Amino acid sequence: MSEKTKKVTRLVDVRVVADMPSWVCRYYSRPEEWATNAEAWAREFNEFIRDHRSQDPVYLNVERITEEVCEKCGCTWEPYQDEEFPIPSCAGCGAEIEVEQGVSLGGQGR
Ligand SMILES: [Zn+2]
Repeated sequence: MSEKTKKVTRLVDVRVVADMPSWVCRYYSRPEEWATNAEAWAREFNEFIRDHRSQDPVYLNVERITEEVCEKCGCTWEPYQDEEFPIPSCAGCGAEIEVEQGVSLGGQGR
């Protein structure tokens, strides 16, 4: 008889999240513009911090959060394929998936 286990949530690290002023992103519609504006704002903020010696080990980093999504419908990338639907398709919109040579779909490989 093997010992059982279960999923637990354990704290392993602490990060500080800084909310930028809303104008950094407000006037732009594309996430790529949010990222480049956030990077420019963080550079300026880091220079400000450098001039205040008691806090100068503080450094703001901009992390780009990406996710794999369907190009067509924008939902989370989830290839779908079974005996009834043998052609690999997007589970969200049903569009057929373009298969590149030697690239796995992320689902059942062939
Ligand atoms: Zn889709």
